[in-house]
Amino acid sequence: MLLAEEREALAAAGRRLAERGLVIGTSGNLSARRDDLVAVTPTGAVISELSAAEMTVISLADGAIVEGDLEPTSEVPMHLAVYRATSTCAIAHTHAVTSTAIGLVCDEIPLIHYTMLSLGGALRVAPYATYGTEELAQHVVAALQYKQAALMRNHGSIAIGGTVTRSVDHLELAEWCAETYARALTLSAALPGNADGEKTAPRVLTQKEQEDVINVALASGYGSTKKISQ
Ligand code: 13P
Ligand code: ZN
Repeated sequence: MLLAEEREALAAAGRRLAERGLVIGTSGNLSARRDDLVAVTPTGAVISELSAAEMTVISLADGAIVEGDLEPTSEVPMHLAVYRATSTCAIAHTHAVTSTAIGLVCDEIPLIHYTMLSLGGALRVAPYATYGTEELAQHVVAALQYKQAALMRNHGSIAIGGTVTRSVDHLELAEWCAETYARALTLSAALPGNADGEKTAPRVLTQKEQEDVINVALASGYGSTKKISQ
């Protein structure tokens, strides 16, 4: 079986996304690339129930089916466009609720939390286009430039990563950012505001604050456990 490890990782990712409430039913699709081949979830499948053997392997060059019994996801144009535009190895796309909701009313999630620096900073919302089209693929490629995740207007979110696990980590973090931003917007609207009745917009990190976080995180290896030195 071609791309056996990648297929297993995609099946595990589907289960994880469903457990965390980021995917329902047949919404969303996942893929993993190795060299000039891409393993993708089949179209119309319940992502959380897929086995490794049910993934389809296609050619990166032209999307031709290389191995598999099931038709690949309708979003093959989007997955291939992202692989061609980046050096990433995995893509996760779902219709996560709050990312979708924010995409209906905002053009971006500003840099409201330092962990967003690991996604490349503020997250863009890709303009709407019909699912499965080359137009949507190009909007998503543009929204992902220098980023690990993006929102998709009237649709959902997408994240990339060096491994399938990393792409799902990034999708989860994007959803957490969307949820946090949504709550801040709600609180801002509910609070009385200043003496002139102006509302307080969610605070965004300054350039200096961002640089300080990057310096500290690089020096300390943020997000990894460390042995206590004897
Ligand atoms: P597929 O079932 O074809 O992957 O479509 C689901 C989807 O999310 C389209 O954007
Ligand atoms: Zn979709």
